[in-house]
Amino acid sequence: QKIEWKRLVNLRTVSADGYPIELAANIGTPEDIQSVLENGGEGIGLYRSEFLYMGREQLPTEEEQFTAYKTVLECMEGKPVVVRTLDIGGDKELPYLNFPKEMNPFLGFRAIRLCLEEQEMFRTQLRALLRASVYGNLKIMFPMIATIEEFRQAKAILSEEKEKLQSLGTAVSESIEVGMMVEIPASAMMADLFAKETDFFSIGTNDLVQYMMAADRMNESVSYLYQPYHPAILRLINNVIEAAHKEGKWVGMCGEMAGDPLAIPLLLALGLDEFSMSATSILPARSQIQHLSREEAIGYKEKILAMSTSEEVVNFVKEQFLLTK
Ligand code: PEP
Ligand code: MG
Repeated sequence: QKIEWKRLVNLRTVSADGYPIELAANIGTPEDIQSVLENGGEGIGLYRSEFLYMGREQLPTEEEQFTAYKTVLECMEGKPVVVRTLDIGGDKELPYLNFPKEMNPFLGFRAIRLCLEEQEMFRTQLRALLRASVYGNLKIMFPMIATIEEFRQAKAILSEEKEKLQSLGTAVSESIEVGMMVEIPASAMMADLFAKETDFFSIGTNDLVQYMMAADRMNESVSYLYQPYHPAILRLINNVIEAAHKEGKWVGMCGEMAGDPLAIPLLLALGLDEFSMSATSILPARSQIQHLSREEAIGYKEKILAMSTSEEVVNFVKEQFLLTK
């Protein structure tokens, strides 16, 4: 099987009925690119920029960030690179930021909430990204968006920094797509309205599942409730994808679910456009998708969305898409 996968490194991902799907990779640092290229990644669907801020004593400078973003964009040679702006808080702390301990860090002051308050830090990152944008195909994504106002404010700050740079004569790409993560149920419910203002969505199931099921993603005692295949989650994902497609926008997924062989047939059925996963999952996923008919999967969509438990969904996937194919 490993040998069969190797032959797929330089191929595009196409379903059995000829529909192209984009398989991208999640990375944390520029060093991860090597493995993405070896495993045939068609882009970067999630660059977790917080790693630039972690394991050190102070904030990274604009220059340091610029160098990291430029390196990733150049190595990917024009393939799409989605950089997520700083997503700190929850399970990721920055000792030098010294924020008070919270009762519920996953519901607390983190990610875009923190960036909209600590604007100098945020603007520094955005300037580094804008300056790097001319070296490849950059897409900027904001994490943990809960409200339209947050998204508008983040985009306005980005535009301000872009105009400032351009007025100083700095080159900035004119084709940067600006999108958001959908990882909070409120924004998934409001996807029809967000879809009018975003260039794309990337569904972050790691957080979306915990918020939807009210089950902490780090807590073993409630892990039985952390159910990515729960019909409630599938219905929510369906809502996001339908809303985006109505507005002609694309939808990716960068949570762990996107690389899971059990989830892939379901996500094809729901019409997901881009799957972003750890580099080592890409070739197995490409091989799996080559053997799946997207049309056939879509034919089961209503039936799947009408199921009542995760177990029912999982059994159906195993019988319909894994054992018999
Ligand atoms: C997610 O929430 O699904 C996600 C991709 O972000 P992170 O795992 O970094 O929170
Ligand atoms: Mg997340």
